[in-house]
Amino acid sequence: MRGRSAAIMARARDVLPGGVSSPVRAFKGVGGEPFVVQRGAGARLVDVDDREYIDYVMSWGALALGHASPPVLDAIAEAMQGGTSFGAPTEIEVELAELVRQRMPHLEMLRFVSTGTEATMSAIRLARAATGRDRILKFDGCYHGHGDAFLVRAGSGVATLGLPDSPGVPDVLAALTLSAPFNDLDGVRGVVDGHGDRLAAIIVEPVIGNAGFIAPEPAFLRGLRATADEVGALLIFDEVMTGFRIAPGGAAERFGVRADLTTIGKIIGGGLPAAAYGGRRDLMDMVAPSGPVYQAGTLSGNPLAMAAGLATLRLLTPALHQKVETRTARLVAGMRTLAARLGIPFTADSAGSMFGFFFRAEPVRSFADARASDVSMFRRFFHAALSRGVYFAPSPFEAGFVSAAHGDADIDATLERVEQAMDEARA
Ligand SMILES: *Cc1c(COP(=O)(O)O)cnc(C)c1O
Repeated sequence: MRGRSAAIMARARDVLPGGVSSPVRAFKGVGGEPFVVQRGAGARLVDVDDREYIDYVMSWGALALGHASPPVLDAIAEAMQGGTSFGAPTEIEVELAELVRQRMPHLEMLRFVSTGTEATMSAIRLARAATGRDRILKFDGCYHGHGDAFLVRAGSGVATLGLPDSPGVPDVLAALTLSAPFNDLDGVRGVVDGHGDRLAAIIVEPVIGNAGFIAPEPAFLRGLRATADEVGALLIFDEVMTGFRIAPGGAAERFGVRADLTTIGKIIGGGLPAAAYGGRRDLMDMVAPSGPVYQAGTLSGNPLAMAAGLATLRLLTPALHQKVETRTARLVAGMRTLAARLGIPFTADSAGSMFGFFFRAEPVRSFADARASDVSMFRRFFHAALSRGVYFAPSPFEAGFVSAAHGDADIDATLERVEQAMDEARA
């Protein structure tokens, strides 16, 4: 059925570990053979065997406007005519930084990098420099990229593959990363009581998207803010996924809690590699060349990525955001109704255009809860949906994304196929 996909993956496995350039793409979390993409347009992906899918992965959240959005392509094409990289200042970096600050005023200054991993690594370096402390506190199931400091109880592919903390990370480094359960302020208190005076930063995904979708309880983020202030640590919101997605201004706007430093990525590059870290001016002034904290990048602020990001953010107005948020809520409510009708234990939630679901009756508040969901039911459902042309993330520990290109008809078509897929999967 997937003749060309299978043939290409066979070649891929000979030259690329697991046949992929990033682990979750290999379908290890669900079994079976990944499809190979031919092209995308709007809400749809087409594989090399000409099968079409309604896509809820959307390049893992990088595509707010859908695949091959014509205005984004035009912006890239126009920028491209003037050259693809300069290693020198350009006006478009300034324009994008100004627009980001308009949406997220607490990012008084920011530094562009190329990946979310670089953004979080750099934010931690800055937090350590600013506080003169070495420990960081993260949360079980949160994923902050593949930097050494973060591969401790990490989510995303690490969770999908059921890996312990990654080999290759020196123990002395891993020992500086403390972890607590999400939504558990008592757990945070326990860690802080032992390490508070050595804690440089608390870093968190304000809504977890890398252990499946897990929303914060109302008091949790406020409690982290208070704890950080109390012990003199910085609060870092890793908004690589949630930035411009859970609200036009991200977590600060949605939850009314401001971090000292924020990392953004994915949407900010409009489907090209761009990310950033930013926050309080006094902190960002410590970054080289203003200050001594070194961080650099040959392709940072790449003009094509800046053009794609700028076009994306300009089009992603608060009004459009609201529309996509409403459609996302409708998808999730529809899935809940179908599961209830079929008598399937199920829980689902969304924030902005980000959503997730678990085959579990009780709500999911933590990574431990997520792991207690019915993973084999997820696998059956995933494949039943995929075979009907609906592509959800190939792991129970990843979120889903709705783009501005997903119309009401796509949501209706999805729900129809989800009903069949749930029915097939429960058998
Ligand atoms: C995707 C992601 C990262 C890593 O970004 P890359 O561009 O893959 O390096 C970091 N943090 C969060 C919350 C993410 O979702």
